[in-house]
Amino acid sequence: MLTNDQLAEWDRQTFFHPSTHLAQHARGETPTRVITTGKGCHIEDRDGRRLLDAFAGLYCVNVGYGRQEIAEAIAAQARELAYYHAYVGHGTEASITLAKMILDRAPKGMSKVYFGLSGSDANETNVKLVWYYNNILGRPEKKKIISRWLGYHGSGLVTGSLTGLELFHKKFDLPLSQVVHTKAPYYYRRADLAQTPEQFTAHCAAELEALIAREGADTIAAFIGEPVLGTGGIVPPPPGYWDAIQQVLRKHDILLIADEVVTGFGRLGSMFGSDHYGMTPDLITIAKGLTSAYAPLSGSIVGDRMWKVLEQGTDENGPIGHGWTYSAHPIGAAAGVANLRLLDELNLIGNAAEVGAYLQQALKAALGDHPKVGEIRGEGMLAAVEFVADRGGRRFFDASEKVGPRVSAALLSRGVIARAMPQGDILGFAPPFCLTKPEAEEIAAMTAEAVTEVLGA
Ligand code: PLP
Repeated sequence: MLTNDQLAEWDRQTFFHPSTHLAQHARGETPTRVITTGKGCHIEDRDGRRLLDAFAGLYCVNVGYGRQEIAEAIAAQARELAYYHAYVGHGTEASITLAKMILDRAPKGMSKVYFGLSGSDANETNVKLVWYYNNILGRPEKKKIISRWLGYHGSGLVTGSLTGLELFHKKFDLPLSQVVHTKAPYYYRRADLAQTPEQFTAHCAAELEALIAREGADTIAAFIGEPVLGTGGIVPPPPGYWDAIQQVLRKHDILLIADEVVTGFGRLGSMFGSDHYGMTPDLITIAKGLTSAYAPLSGSIVGDRMWKVLEQGTDENGPIGHGWTYSAHPIGAAAGVANLRLLDELNLIGNAAEVGAYLQQALKAALGDHPKVGEIRGEGMLAAVEFVADRGGRRFFDASEKVGPRVSAALLSRGVIARAMPQGDILGFAPPFCLTKPEAEEIAAMTAEAVTEVLGA
């Protein structure tokens, strides 16, 4: 077995890590962390440290680590048939079964699933389908996509543009001109102190109306949003938000893409965020929770009204010119089938609802009165603690103080992983759905200790 030092050296010499400070890492100023194994909500590194992973990887290992049922399904599929493509009507028992299982669980009005590999490529597919749709309908000008500031939709060219975080645009010549951004439904940070949540919802809808008026409704094809803002800060929408937004979209004949990469398959304690908030999307993006990250697989679930037009398009133009070699990869599909079965058999979505609520309560009990904790929020098995310099005046820390990363590091030193969200001083929690109440209590207690260490009592 290689020594840790040898691995760390090769790592610095050869490995281009995503979302990493490249220069610091190459200089050895940030550690190489080698993870070896996992079980339930815990992972272990090569030094034998056992950590409670309260972010489920990148909010994706929803059923928890070490599930032999999924590993066996992957191995059996690999032995039997590791690969065949899905072009021109080909499939496998796993891919066809998985499409059926997804549609059985999806919100009403959905018609078909197109499979990809990542949330980013699924959103690329969605944008292409939206453009194709409007070309077939004879509306070549209706092409722009509205996204929200602080939304996260991937880091490709179009999807990095949809993502409303400056870091993903800066120096990459993004966003592309077909993407425009509107207000984030982030009451705690974006509302005036005097505004009620309901007034803020109305304000977000009015901002959307104003943007559509400026751009021209006949140039806007679709609106994309996560039911709960994820990477932008783990922010559930203010009351009535999705109703108000959908009214505007309907009025201007604008499609709705629900990006459920994080929320799909149970993270909010219900199967889909769309059902949770009464959204009726035309397209739904799925990834992470589809296989609980046991294998890469994503999907675009296409609604009835789009599907009819796509069929018409191929009658007029021939086969759809969109396909990946690995669409519906049999190993990913086998993992997906086993994963969705496990969610049902172990009632993991019910547990996400129950223990997620318990975790939020435990965080509130441990930290609710802390003078530097501005808000504790969440939905289902998603929670966030947001830090403020001054609670009454809602004044935030300067980013250079790195409060979020420092609290996250202090928590890690106590054996718990939570994510310092990339924007703002926010600690994010998205544990596996199998989290137990004692584990939730441990997360809350260790977080309180870490906050005291960094910000005082
Ligand atoms: N959409 C949402 C809501 C996400 O949270 C993410 C990733 O975190 C993506 C899309 C992109 O998925 P991927 O990283 O698999 O490309």
